[in-house]
Amino acid sequence: MSSWKDQIQKQWGPHKHCPICGKAMPRDNKFCSQGCKDNYLQSQKKKKKKSRIQIVFLVGMMVVMFVMLFILG
Ligand SMILES: [Zn+2]
Repeated sequence: MSSWKDQIQKQWGPHKHCPICGKAMPRDNKFCSQGCKDNYLQSQKKKKKKSRIQIVFLVGMMVVMFVMLFILG
């Protein structure tokens, strides 16, 4: 008797799942399709943009605080 895990292994062979859509795919692929790769790259770009905005915001806050201290002091 084989477990369901063995059966899946037999059916699919060594595989992993696409990080974007979760489809099964060969283990040496990073993504299941070009579309998912594009998707991933786009979301990475967005993340970078977002973190840059956060840094600008933090620096801006610090500058405001310094100016306030300077004015109040
Ligand atoms: Zn995919």
